[in-house]
Amino acid sequence: MYDPKSLKAEEFICHEEIEDTLKYADENKDNLPLIREILDKARLCKGLSHREASVLLACEDPEILDEIYKLANEIKHKFYGNRIVMFAPLYLSNYCVNGCTYCPYHRQNHHIPRRKLTQEEVAKEVIALQDMGHKRLAIEAGEDPVNNPIEYILDCIKTIYSIQHKNGAIRRVNVNIAATTVENYRKLKEAGIGTYILFQETYHKESYEKLHPTGPKHNYAYHTEAMDRAMEGGIDDVGLGVLYGLEMYRYEFCGQLMHAEHLEAVHGVGPHTISVPRLKKADDIDPTKFDNGISDETFAKICALIRIAVPYTGMIISTRESQKVRAQVINLGVSQISGASRTSVGGYAEEERPTDTEQFDVSDQRSLDEVVRWLMETDHIPSFCTACYREGRTGDRFMSLCKSGQIQNCCHPNALITLKEFLEDYASPETKAIGEKMIAQELENIPNEKTRSIAKGYVEKVAHGERDFRF
Ligand code: SF4
Ligand code: SF4
Repeated sequence: MYDPKSLKAEEFICHEEIEDTLKYADENKDNLPLIREILDKARLCKGLSHREASVLLACEDPEILDEIYKLANEIKHKFYGNRIVMFAPLYLSNYCVNGCTYCPYHRQNHHIPRRKLTQEEVAKEVIALQDMGHKRLAIEAGEDPVNNPIEYILDCIKTIYSIQHKNGAIRRVNVNIAATTVENYRKLKEAGIGTYILFQETYHKESYEKLHPTGPKHNYAYHTEAMDRAMEGGIDDVGLGVLYGLEMYRYEFCGQLMHAEHLEAVHGVGPHTISVPRLKKADDIDPTKFDNGISDETFAKICALIRIAVPYTGMIISTRESQKVRAQVINLGVSQISGASRTSVGGYAEEERPTDTEQFDVSDQRSLDEVVRWLMETDHIPSFCTACYREGRTGDRFMSLCKSGQIQNCCHPNALITLKEFLEDYASPETKAIGEKMIAQELENIPNEKTRSIAKGYVEKVAHGERDFRF
């Protein structure tokens, strides 16, 4: 029944295979020779299977856990250096016809104000985001064929890309909207989107159906097979994610890796990103009513094991998590974080953070300038790079560059050039001082002499007012 190459949800996310895997993991969680073998394989940086990674997740030996963290940190540095890519979510509309029991936008919530941005309001949001320094957005909208049809989403993308305010520009728009048709995915591709992101929420079919009692999202197979349709529509960068806290985390972890294996088996390219959101409080949602909440320690272990199991896949964490948790997981493999997020519709154009239409409580409420400074103070390079998508480095082209290690020759200088733009246009004097020092040091760390010299030239040009250089 289990077949990673199948296009049927229940065959590539096969319940029996997950149950067997969890049983195998339990049986082997103290099998140190096997665990050492798996860790040795992981050191080759070619990833792990869902079974192997599940054994490591089940293992509770503190020494092994230390080794897992150490290895995740090494792999993170090997593939992503000390760079962290920055992005912000942009909520377009909270109209939604679905009945998801964990999200305050569910249809039965009659007291939450419903809002949908007009194109003028989208422009205002984009200007506010550009004024902070953002270059990369993830747009979010509820599922509502009447209020948020695909044409509305396409109009918003067009508006976002069209706004050139001062030196600002949104250079990459990732899209997080409901599962849709191949035809609509094709339209999104033509609109120039970066990654198509769709959270699975849970891979456990029975729970999925209970958690989504009404609306089109109730259809587990249609939702789970969405990435295959997106790829058929020409989108080759897709982003997975489960909402940790809804189901048993070991089940979700295994399902997520099986989904990645399926994409690789069928399309020759795994997920571009994996997001790791955890269930949070919001309006009429109380996370304690769900039985599967995970501790910060388990969350960190999951992040480390995703990094080890799929080294080429970017990992994203949002402002759902506190500064403390973000600090820990950045060192274990997270490669992208949001900063200064507002999770309400129209939130960026407001002076004060509005909470009436928030999708979830924001734990990390620092400004983008503060997050950028904090990253640099902890020896990370904040990157506003969007180069790959604009250079056509997507899908298997991106993955082969990534696997050969060549992408590093682009990421590092691009991080410095885009950080320099941020410092020139948006940073506070204190952040700027720290950043200038970091750029001067890090430019010298570019190994290739020619690249180093070109990068220095670009940084110099940015200082003199020119923008948008990239490798
Ligand atoms: S999670 Fe998405 S589909 Fe579900 S209620 Fe919220 S906005 Fe709607
Ligand atoms: S060069 Fe490509 S992979 Fe590297 S940070 Fe930029 S967009 Fe990402």
